[in-house]
Amino acid sequence: MSISRRHFVGASAAALAALGLPGCGRRPVPRMEPSTAGKVSLFRNGVILPMDAGFSQVSAMAVQGSRILALGDAAESAAGRGDEIIDLDGRTLLPGFIEPHMHFALLAGFGGATDVGPFEQPEFDDAVEALRQAAAATPPGDWIMGRQFDPILLEPPRELTVTELDTVSADRPIFVLNASGHIAYVNSKALELAGITKDTPDPPGANFGRFEDGRPNGVLYGTAAHLPVAMRNPTLTARMQSGFVAAGREVGDLAASMGVTTLCDMATGGLSGPAEIDRYRAMFDGDAMKARIRAYLFDSAAELWDEAGTRPGQGDALMRVAGWKVVTDGSNQGFTGRQREPYVFSDNVGLYYVQPDDLKALVELRTGQGWPLALHGNGDAAIDSILNAMENAKAQGIDVNALRCRIEHCSILHDEQIERMAALDMVPSFLINHVHYWGHVMRDHVFGPEKVQLLDRCGSVEAAGLDWVMHTDAPVSPLGSLQKVRTAVARDLWREPDTVLAPDERVSVEAALRAVTINAARACFSEHEIGSLEPGKFADLVILEEDPRDVEPAAVADIQISQTWMNGRQVY
Ligand SMILES: [Zn+2]
Repeated sequence: MSISRRHFVGASAAALAALGLPGCGRRPVPRMEPSTAGKVSLFRNGVILPMDAGFSQVSAMAVQGSRILALGDAAESAAGRGDEIIDLDGRTLLPGFIEPHMHFALLAGFGGATDVGPFEQPEFDDAVEALRQAAAATPPGDWIMGRQFDPILLEPPRELTVTELDTVSADRPIFVLNASGHIAYVNSKALELAGITKDTPDPPGANFGRFEDGRPNGVLYGTAAHLPVAMRNPTLTARMQSGFVAAGREVGDLAASMGVTTLCDMATGGLSGPAEIDRYRAMFDGDAMKARIRAYLFDSAAELWDEAGTRPGQGDALMRVAGWKVVTDGSNQGFTGRQREPYVFSDNVGLYYVQPDDLKALVELRTGQGWPLALHGNGDAAIDSILNAMENAKAQGIDVNALRCRIEHCSILHDEQIERMAALDMVPSFLINHVHYWGHVMRDHVFGPEKVQLLDRCGSVEAAGLDWVMHTDAPVSPLGSLQKVRTAVARDLWREPDTVLAPDERVSVEAALRAVTINAARACFSEHEIGSLEPGKFADLVILEEDPRDVEPAAVADIQISQTWMNGRQVY
């Protein structure tokens, strides 16, 4: 990494205010004046949870234009003759869910691909059969595209290779993306189109899986190995480039159907650099886009972002630049998350993607420029290096506490690391579906029964008073917030429904609901406009058929979404 850029020391609260960011979350929230014009929509006769500090409950809420006008009795008296009445009929109304970490370009680009992951196709043969059906349904000449394949969740674990994929199609290319996005599986036709043979050397930082005789077996490890192959598919490149606005609106449709009204993209610019910001903006021309976007600029495009002069807080309430994303290590289930001790049954401690000294320099540079950082850290050693880098920046006089820097995934946390995070006002952002879907793998193959108790410690960070959040990392795990709430409350395992993983880390439904609403709003510097139901805030809301507090924890994920509203408009 080269550090040759201008260094702005000290992200003061005044500087943050100048950037349009509200500064420290514990300060009072600036109120916007509601617009006085237009028809009032009155939601009444239901359970309305504004998500305030006391977790209060009211039965009515009035919306005018894009904003919330009043709650409770004041809402009832705000509506007059000719206004719209929405009878909730006992249903539960909450602030729209905020997804604090997902990958927009991957969801958009692969939106048309067939889901062959274990949640849809539990056995290996089912996945192959699903691809066969996809081949039959794909127009001649088009690539056959799959997504979500995840060998580690199959019993026994098994990779897709040319051996199976060539039986699906020998004359049309097949491309299947792993759930992590880091690996792909292709057939011989795709290898041929990409010119990958026995004699092709591995690309830097990636490799081609091979049979014993050196022939490529169709498994492509690392984006440097699979992206050049994927980009030979003209339909995919169109979805990623000229068709990105339309494909992105499909992601908005999906979010709205799940009650999600804000999406935080965690790799903005990773494919096409600053042009991606313009495409996100263009999605909001007209009224077709159904979810807000908060963009986190991917550090791999750092030079381009610096050239473009992109700043935190740039944009508006629909689409705003919210932070800067850095990936410091790999993934635990991929055995590349950096650990203090080796993985169970091995002497491997994983990888630093950014060496600790380089991370120190990077964190000092970007926090000094006022960037709220989202630092991917999976293993406990990676989290040590993040905390060291943050403490170093603070020691240099930078007000890092005001930046609410986040640790993404934050998978393995020791008590003393939680204390250090609290002292820095950092936000733990858990990929909570790791517990439900991958929990048995984490226990039996990754960490062992003792260390796995430190996985996704929602209960401990809640007790420590941290504003923690939960993410799906979609498409890594399925988009949807009720599943996250269910897992935080129940911590039950997909493969072993009777097992509770680290029961002390379970939280109340109320705490889990705060994590997917107001805490997530704070994490992306948007709590002055979304995340709770307060007069003056935007009318982003979800109506559920049942109150999550009234059903068994494991049933929370099955509650039907009745309606979703974003910016005062019904979008689902
Ligand atoms: Zn991610």
